Amino acid sequence: MSDIIRLLPDSVANQIAAGEVIQRPSSVIKELVENSVDAGATDIKIFIKDAGRTLIQVVDNGNGMSETDARMAFERHATSKIKDADDLFALHTMGFRGEALPSICAISQVELLTKTKDQSLGTRLKLNATKVESQEPVACESGTSLMVKNLFFNVPARRKFLKSDNVELTNIMREFERLALVNNNIRISIDTGNRILDLRRASFKQRITDIWKNSLDLHLIPVDVETSLVKISGFISRPEFARRRNPLQFLIVNGRNMRHPYFHKAIVGCYDSLIAIDTQPCYFLKFEVDPKTIDVNIHPTKNEIKFEFEQEIWPILQVAVKAALGKSGAVPSIDFNLEPIPVQPLKKGEIPPAPSLDIPKDYNPFNNFEEGNNNKENPYKYPDKTPRNRNWDSLYSDFIKDAHGFGRNLDVQNQSEKPVIPEFKQETMITPGKICLQYAEKYIITTGGEGIFIIDQRRAHVKILYSEFISHLDKTEQVSQGLMFPDTIEIEPSLHSSFEEIMPDLLHAGFQIEYEEENRWKITAVPSIAKNIDPVDIIKRLLDAVNDNGANYGKDSIGTNYLINKLALIMARSSAVNYGQKLSEEEMEELVVKLFSLADPLYSPNGNKIFYVFNDSNLNSVFK
Ligand code: ADP
Ligand code: MG
Repeated sequence: MSDIIRLLPDSVANQIAAGEVIQRPSSVIKELVENSVDAGATDIKIFIKDAGRTLIQVVDNGNGMSETDARMAFERHATSKIKDADDLFALHTMGFRGEALPSICAISQVELLTKTKDQSLGTRLKLNATKVESQEPVACESGTSLMVKNLFFNVPARRKFLKSDNVELTNIMREFERLALVNNNIRISIDTGNRILDLRRASFKQRITDIWKNSLDLHLIPVDVETSLVKISGFISRPEFARRRNPLQFLIVNGRNMRHPYFHKAIVGCYDSLIAIDTQPCYFLKFEVDPKTIDVNIHPTKNEIKFEFEQEIWPILQVAVKAALGKSGAVPSIDFNLEPIPVQPLKKGEIPPAPSLDIPKDYNPFNNFEEGNNNKENPYKYPDKTPRNRNWDSLYSDFIKDAHGFGRNLDVQNQSEKPVIPEFKQETMITPGKICLQYAEKYIITTGGEGIFIIDQRRAHVKILYSEFISHLDKTEQVSQGLMFPDTIEIEPSLHSSFEEIMPDLLHAGFQIEYEEENRWKITAVPSIAKNIDPVDIIKRLLDAVNDNGANYGKDSIGTNYLINKLALIMARSSAVNYGQKLSEEEMEELVVKLFSLADPLYSPNGNKIFYVFNDSNLNSVFK
């Protein structure tokens, strides 16, 4: 057999490499901005068109490149940053693999303009999918401007894989936030076509508040610890500021943003029992370590890192975070032995003393959280309008008569009809009885012609409210109710485009929202059916749903109905009775009546069963 192995042409090899380094427009921004940082820029400007699909441009005032370097930069493994393998362990630059530019130009059309300070003329280089199209001298400012046009134009599978503009913009803004945070001493701006964010040079703390602007500074506790292995500095959030969604969590190692699940666990662990289980603290922590003791080169995107002294750094990190929490007085005082860090070495077999915790008896970390807080007056909790002394039989007959949807399955007269929900076949008739009992502050028990009904109180109430909200929101004209004290909602930059996307639906639903300044909007009215809900929380949850895990929930794919349903569900969930809430007899009665007035009372909006019926034959089989 003749020889069959051959070397791949550079263009193909570069495309393959691009698959690892450049996954989406935000990866291009990361690579280009990091190059500008390495080139000593103090001012970086980013321009985006069509969420990066048609244009990504990064302009810097850094060192620039010579004519030859400008061409060399697009060769594979061409870098000015390391010379040999030893340099890998003394990295002071963001880049070193010489992969980004060749990868980017393999999958796009690139135009580079660059000039060093000592040249009088710069150079303009145009490339099309790796091929040099032209190079010419040009008058320009010192620094570099790199334009990436039509990303993935020659890789249709990749192009198709991109999410909606909205999701890609969210990714871009998240990347921008990370880059801006790490490089606080650089002025950096982004223009996405409909929004400009321009961040001045600032201290680390100032940069945090410049990016997120939501009075975060009041919630930040400084962390500062220095040992021979690591210097840890930065900020953590006060426990009251823990977030249920999108916690801001950043670990920066030697100026590089990193994912590090092990250290993340160490930090979050310090908040144990100080914050609600479903919330997370924010943290912005910088580690400085000897570059020899870390390996950044474990992934092409360089956002993972291996520490030689991971085990040793863990307790230092924990003590630093706990000490900061304790010292700040933000929490019930935690009395730690703060000095020296790390503490005296223990003798073999000796058990270290546990730090003492002094928490006031009346301290309840969950006080600030909406969910589970049942003390709040609930406006939906059984409005008075339903008449008392109702006629239970007519309720039952109405339900049976109701010959559509779920009701049809219960029509005992019409045995020939195939039930749509097979499980319900044996449950047949629903005749909720007059007497309701509550069990475990979770279930309502009542009897009827067909047996004993056990109803999940929260699911039932969510379903009732959901159905009410949907029927209101479905109407074209929504009635708004002005808020006496308008609420302010802070939206972080990465969510602006999603917020704008859902805005028409929010307005349609009856919210009135006005842009105020920076990241702030004012909510001046809410849907009239939604009295006393927390509009900020509702809108944030809706935003979460839209952005859930970067899934594509663009209008084109789901549409307004999706958002309205989601909004109805979110409002219903936040207003419905909780488990653990004691219900009066009237309340239970009200709930049962309303539930069985619905066409489809059996399943919650999520498809969970709302009630079970134990009938004669069930009971007989138990008591046989
Ligand atoms: P790496 O950053 O890993 O070295 P890249 O492919 O990203 O690899 O860049 C290749 C080289 O191009 C860099 O080493 C640098 O010398 C040069 N370069 C890239 N971007 C810039 C820039 N904005 N300013 C000056 N030089 C740059
Ligand atoms: Mg680079």
